[in-house]
Amino acid sequence: MSHDCIFCSIIDGAIPCYTVYETDETLAFLDANPLEPGHALVIPKTHHERLGDLPTELAARVWETVSELGPQIEFAVGADSMTIGMNDGAAAGQEVPHVHVHLVPREQGDGAGPIHAAFPGQQDVPDEELAELAESIRS
Ligand code: 5GP
Ligand code: ZN
Repeated sequence: MSHDCIFCSIIDGAIPCYTVYETDETLAFLDANPLEPGHALVIPKTHHERLGDLPTELAARVWETVSELGPQIEFAVGADSMTIGMNDGAAAGQEVPHVHVHLVPREQGDGAGPIHAAFPGQQDVPDEELAELAESIRS
């Protein structure tokens, strides 16, 4: 629990939210500034800033909630699809430093595009570079 964390205050009940799903270890609620109707956030009930800070078991519980809830939101709002993602770290756009997964309902032709649209300057990477990167990540 972090006293200056908005999401910890939501878990505490000090800040109200529209809960859509809850387990012993996770909470899901509607985003206050939805990108689309039904945009929800899934969070662990303990304070961890980044995905890499989460114990593996808790990360699994968060993902269980995401996979249970995603289709339920899609059905409830009559969406075609979902974009599911995280802004993990400040450079990626994370504003609330408490791990959260965004679930955003999507409609055919809504114009938002795939996650790839966030990276317009994509370049071809030679195979040797891919091999080096894979080696460096594995080790
Ligand atoms: P981030 O940029 O950190 O990935 O996204 C944080 C999200 O939290 C934003 O989409 C923002 O609208 C949402 N948010 C911030 N404060 C509150 C709040 O007090 N209540 C709710 N329900 N959502 C919030
Ligand atoms: Zn927190």
